Amino acid sequence: MIKDDNFFMQRAYELAQQAESFNEIPVGAVIVANGEIIGEGFNQSIMLNDPSAHAEMLAIRAAGQHLQNYRMLDCTLYVTLEPCPMCAGLLVHSRIKRLVYASPDLKTGSAQSVFNLVQSEYLNHQVEVTEGVMAKECSSMLSAFFKRRRAEKKAQKKAEKNAKNNNVVNE
Ligand SMILES: [Zn+2]
Repeated sequence: MIKDDNFFMQRAYELAQQAESFNEIPVGAVIVANGEIIGEGFNQSIMLNDPSAHAEMLAIRAAGQHLQNYRMLDCTLYVTLEPCPMCAGLLVHSRIKRLVYASPDLKTGSAQSVFNLVQSEYLNHQVEVTEGVMAKECSSMLSAFFKRRRAEKKAQKKAEKNAKNNNVVNE
């Protein structure tokens, strides 16, 4: 098997599926150095009660432990969704060499879509960026997730309304 961008994004995709199985927004990330995965993460903000527990954050923390270093020089981060401002800032702090992401995030994407923090001339580090690897698969997973969640919320509201009406009848 050739360990190319698709190979590593496939692993990030599997991690995103794990997030989804816990009802978290499906985002997964891996860090690669010398052709090997040295850190993995998937979004766990809700279950950890931690707004910083994004896939990229957890993958970078794991890679730091693996490397015993706070710099990710010569590493590549693969993530299924364009990083948010927090994670884009973290990529600059980590001095990571390259970012590969699947789907753009038109609401908070900070590697081009809304801001471009990873290639800002005002910051002291710029990251090489490749976008669109497995974009179709990763964005359909996200849109299916949000569609399902909206339907669940709607059903819940309906159930609450029905319960309320039943109470009125019983009184
Ligand atoms: Zn983030």
